[in-house]
Amino acid sequence: MRYLQATSPQEGERLLDILIRLFVNGPFRPSRRNGLSLHLRRDKPMFPSKLWNVHKSTLKGEDRTNNQVEGWNNRFASIVGHDHPDIWVLILKMRMELSVDETKLGQLSLGVSQVKRKRKFALQGRLQSLCIQYRDGHISVSDFLKADKALFTCSGMPRKCAVPGCKSNYKNSAYTNVFYFPKDEEAKRKWIRAIHRDDFVPSTESVVCIKHFDERFIQREDKVRRDDGTWLCVPKSKPKLTTDAIPTIFENQPSYMTTPAPSKRKTPAERLAEQSLRFEDEFRSYLDDDRIKSFDSVRLLS
Ligand SMILES: [Zn+2]
Repeated sequence: MRYLQATSPQEGERLLDILIRLFVNGPFRPSRRNGLSLHLRRDKPMFPSKLWNVHKSTLKGEDRTNNQVEGWNNRFASIVGHDHPDIWVLILKMRMELSVDETKLGQLSLGVSQVKRKRKFALQGRLQSLCIQYRDGHISVSDFLKADKALFTCSGMPRKCAVPGCKSNYKNSAYTNVFYFPKDEEAKRKWIRAIHRDDFVPSTESVVCIKHFDERFIQREDKVRRDDGTWLCVPKSKPKLTTDAIPTIFENQPSYMTTPAPSKRKTPAERLAEQSLRFEDEFRSYLDDDRIKSFDSVRLLS
């Protein structure tokens, strides 16, 4: 905070003041010592540092959040399957959960390690090494904050679109949905060719935003079949791409860069249905032509 106070521009002072009051030192309060002289004493902040500071736990390599508790909570809720179970259901599910834990403990004792979430794990490791470097005096506060910012920008901020000229998710723009490059090599090559960046090597973090995809490649809702045979459509929380999706729309590039989306190949059943419809049409028009429309036409023919 001292570093921030020294370096922040004037516009930031008010915000810094609020942060200090909430998280570091409370406001000053007059207090009378010995009932005589007046002193100014600092109140405790609303959220003292021991509530939120994770420097020590990061150094020890412990968890910085209680997400794993949250994770357990979600998992248990999904095991139970519905809200407000009766006590017998709850006991049964708790027994199931216990046996899962016993299995995990058994696996661990046999040396089978659990798969850790890679990205979270990497972030934790990088933060820990930063904290150690700072503790040992190898880096300054300013280095620490800069590195910290870079770490969190690559982990939590919305990703920027890889298409040249596209400004999606840049500063001051509304959030745009993005999609990671496909893992399949062939599909990945198609995407790279499509976005006109031939020498581009996408990383696992590279994305293309939704603006470049034709609506027919985007799945916006889930369909569930009701018991009576009708369909219930539920909008997805996040749109998904079809497996054959490729970016085809490039509004900020010259218009010749935009290629029409390849038309969807029809399934054999659809083609057959279309064909029979065509035959039916032809047959009907044939019948129409053959119909005797008036008495005159009969006479003419005879
Ligand atoms: Zn874009």
